[in-house]
Amino acid sequence: MASHKDVKPTKLVIKNIGMILSGMLESPILDGNCIVVENGKISAIGYEKDLDTDQAETTVDAKDCTLTPGLIDSHVHPVIGDYTPRQQQINWIDSCLHGGVTTMISAGEVHAPGRPKDIVGLKAMAIASQRWYENFRPSGVKMLAGAPVIEEGMEEHDFKELADAGVKLLGEVGLGSVKAGETAAQMVKWARKYGIQSTIHTGGPSIPGSGLIDKDVVLEADADIIGHINGGHTALPDDQITCLCESCSRGIELVHNGNERAALLAMRTAYEIGEPERIILGTDSPAGSGVQPLGILRMVAMLSSLGDIPAETAFCFATGNTARMRELDSGTIEVGKSADFIIMDQAQHSPGKGLLESVHQGNLPGIGMTIIDGEVRSARSRNTPPAGRLPEII
Ligand SMILES: [Zn+2]
Repeated sequence: MASHKDVKPTKLVIKNIGMILSGMLESPILDGNCIVVENGKISAIGYEKDLDTDQAETTVDAKDCTLTPGLIDSHVHPVIGDYTPRQQQINWIDSCLHGGVTTMISAGEVHAPGRPKDIVGLKAMAIASQRWYENFRPSGVKMLAGAPVIEEGMEEHDFKELADAGVKLLGEVGLGSVKAGETAAQMVKWARKYGIQSTIHTGGPSIPGSGLIDKDVVLEADADIIGHINGGHTALPDDQITCLCESCSRGIELVHNGNERAALLAMRTAYEIGEPERIILGTDSPAGSGVQPLGILRMVAMLSSLGDIPAETAFCFATGNTARMRELDSGTIEVGKSADFIIMDQAQHSPGKGLLESVHQGNLPGIGMTIIDGEVRSARSRNTPPAGRLPEII
């Protein structure tokens, strides 16, 4: 581990916050108008008059805008740097930062040209991917990558080796040669034993060459996250989706590049069984459907409006819920958590009284600033509609 002794302490104060969204379902809106950050972590939340705001290196006047934890995309397919060969795009991660995403979680670096499928090769690639994104954060975005796609023939020691080398995720189970429930279940268990989290591909084949993963395989494999329960691209039949929600307690991941009607069905089912804390959001991009810089915001607006749930609740699906399921130190506004924020406002000329009502009516908000680990990473978004008000560094 690198020593942090030489890093000088830093302090950030964000004041005049109009509304603080917490990322926590049980209390999605917090009291207060000010947040203090020290050395990249939240150190105080409340009203400016009660907080120690002296000697800050950076002070942001939020101009009455809304602050929320940075959004987490639970399902992406990165390859290297800020480039994806899938649609030959550069700077796609930076574009997503402008859509409020501060953390991304790889569901497998599956688009690497010539991706190795032999065991030593796939392990080497996973370890290398984990390293290059740990060493290089595109535009400051936290890319948690190095997610090997499991193949037939892997044994327990392979998972231990991966874990010992720093690998913490499995790529989507089912994208490799392991498609049968029993083999998948054994490998998921080995992964879990060594602290590696797993996601399973759910639904029809994504592209020619991939296969169907139905509810029986998903339940038998018992991965930590039911990856794109609404399909990536095509969904399972409705009765299988409701059965998956009802028959296990794993993460219910809804993605932009899936079937939006099926996403609403899964969300409603999670509510019916009283388990909305299992709902997490992803884009599943880059993919055949492309890259969606505003994908997570669009999911929030879609679920809030068509699913008729409060906007502040929908934001929790993209922040606190994902952080808890994924064991991240961000995603909620709590003392000690990483200071990953977006500052946003109702989009100019959008209907609704205020940001929450506007989003509940299906409109995107305008992002005015993103902050990661207490550092301002971007100002007015080049991708969202323009925000009514904009925060300023003073
Ligand atoms: Zn998939």
